[in-house]
Amino acid sequence: MNVEVRQAGKTYRTGTAQTVEALRPITLNIRDREFVCFLGPSGCGKSTLLKLIAGIEPADSGEIVCDGVKVKGTSTDRGFIFQDYALFPWLTVKHNILFGLRARKENKQESHKIAESFIRLFGLSEVSHLYPNQLSGGMRQRVAIARALCLKPKLLLMDEPFAALDALLRQKLQEELVRIWSHEQITFVFVTHDVEEAVYLADRIVVMTPRPGTVKEIVPVNLPRPRNRTDADFVRLRARLLELMDNGKSNETWTPPPSWNGSMPLSGGQTPDPAGRPALDGVAIPL
Ligand code: ADP
Repeated sequence: MNVEVRQAGKTYRTGTAQTVEALRPITLNIRDREFVCFLGPSGCGKSTLLKLIAGIEPADSGEIVCDGVKVKGTSTDRGFIFQDYALFPWLTVKHNILFGLRARKENKQESHKIAESFIRLFGLSEVSHLYPNQLSGGMRQRVAIARALCLKPKLLLMDEPFAALDALLRQKLQEELVRIWSHEQITFVFVTHDVEEAVYLADRIVVMTPRPGTVKEIVPVNLPRPRNRTDADFVRLRARLLELMDNGKSNETWTPPPSWNGSMPLSGGQTPDPAGRPALDGVAIPL
């Protein structure tokens, strides 16, 4: 599936008069069967952009066009995988997978056949009768991927799907994902704030600025697959991206309150910054 993001922007309304500008209008083209990562610091609007493409959130300026059709809501053509798996806790692995197939109005016999084949493909046969809370995080994410893929989407949107997993499992699932992508006729869009993950996975990396999110740079990854994380070219590109992200200054300016004397009350365990800058999570401080 080909995705055109045309001047799409999003501002959330958080209270009667309060707004959060999550995305400045963005223009971006994603080619059919491409693997694209959105990379940027937490809160820069990566998930928002993904949700606009999915049709979960409406853009409030511009438009998203997929294979020539304007996105007006969700569609089974566009699968979505959440960080927290979003499985139904009251359904077994098999019934979680069957759920989506039922929504697609596949007949019962055919649904069971498709579900069984995905259960085998994803190594879930032994656990197909278990409930999500009886599975490890890695298994749960495998179920979520199987559930999304059995609907035969043309586009798979993934929002930090491996963020909660330990490093080794994460690498294993990244390898599996690249294998799946190389066998399927599907466009993959993957959100991450992990530079190494983006270099391992992507054909192109869309580096975003801190909020309000815009595209800072689009970096092609011309490394052959399967990629080796210790290759000199891999390490070099990773370093370049880290530098790009580090230089990402916010478009917002931080104005100290009149009472601010250059120091900040620190909560337990925090060390004061030698330059006297306040340590605030998620607030971009001009350096
Ligand atoms: P990222 O995925 O890069 O971490 P998000 O797209 O989740 O960023 O969020 C971008 C900004 O929009 C953040 O400041 C976040 O707090 C805000 N935001 C996200 N969703 C909502 C919402 N539903 N209502 C209000 N603000 C939101």
